[in-house]
Amino acid sequence: MQTDTHDVVIVGLGPAAYSAALYSARFMLKTLVVGENMGGQLAEAGEVDDYPGLIGVQAQQMIEAFNEHVKKYSVPIVLDRVESIKKEDGEFLLNTQGGSEFRARAVILAVGVERRRLNVPGELELLGKGVSYCSVCDAPLFKGKRVVVIGGGDSALEGAEILSRYASKVYLVHRRNEFRAQPIYVESVKKKTNVEFVLNSVVKKIEGEKTVNGVVVEERERNAQRKLEVQGVFIEIGFEPPKEFAKKVGVETDPNGYIKVDEWMRTSVKGVFAAGDCTSVWLGFRQVVTAVAQGAVAAHSAFKYVIENKKSLSA
Ligand code: NAD
Repeated sequence: MQTDTHDVVIVGLGPAAYSAALYSARFMLKTLVVGENMGGQLAEAGEVDDYPGLIGVQAQQMIEAFNEHVKKYSVPIVLDRVESIKKEDGEFLLNTQGGSEFRARAVILAVGVERRRLNVPGELELLGKGVSYCSVCDAPLFKGKRVVVIGGGDSALEGAEILSRYASKVYLVHRRNEFRAQPIYVESVKKKTNVEFVLNSVVKKIEGEKTVNGVVVEERERNAQRKLEVQGVFIEIGFEPPKEFAKKVGVETDPNGYIKVDEWMRTSVKGVFAAGDCTSVWLGFRQVVTAVAQGAVAAHSAFKYVIENKKSLSA
């Protein structure tokens, strides 16, 4: 399928992409969104209570509102995966998994990150029903409850610290005896009286009918299993940046594989912008509010780029 040239094609369908689409349309650019999973990470979240003005909104409702908002500006959304982006005759040519081809004067990459999964029984079945991948987002929902945090890096320790302020009991399960996290985080969590370290241990399964009621952990050396009675499971074992995708598209990445951008969300390729979790900036603080902020900035930069380019072509 061949289409006319769009001013901007936005790749992705999470909060950063919706915001980029909204702003791009409001800048009167001919805009298209191509994303494979409506809502991105939000599709896996329960209640969101950290977006100013939306008090205790369900993530699904938020996705519907994002959709409605871009629909108001008649931005078409194509559910597909972009496989390649090439520059041809001063335009970008995007090819999708579904066999479509789109042309754009500018591209905004809002492809997010993939959360690392534990790959244990119960993980996907109880997602949003006690299983969460974001302690910072969901900690307040577990006030007075018993929870487990899994992981040994900064986000796991930071998660345990935040959760200890809400939950009655926090188990921190880590597969090794030492932590990859910064010592200052480890020391701070060790001081918490309601946090118990369960080290050298791995999670075998997450249990529960409608909601989580516990996790089974195994001590690695002794193969001894034990059930931790909890209502919340926070999996904080990191993210996979879109390294391979960035390589294919030809944009530079930072040493971790995140797409390098400047403060205006410009990548190393002129006319290609990036926003949200896939970018190299604000690492360590990833929120809906930060993703939508970057999406708006990327759309503004794309707008300036498209206008300048049109001017220079007509000059
Ligand atoms: P995202 O990961 O949510 O969205 C990325 C989207 O891009 C997904 O829809 C994905 O399927 C799509 N995608 C990836 N590769 C693609 C490709 N090649 N072609 C087409 N589509 C592709 O990322 P985002 O929008 O940058 O940010 C989401 C933010 O929301 C994050 O900061 C996250 O931490 C935050 N969040 C917060 C909560 C909360 O409760 N507060 C819950 C969930 C997420």
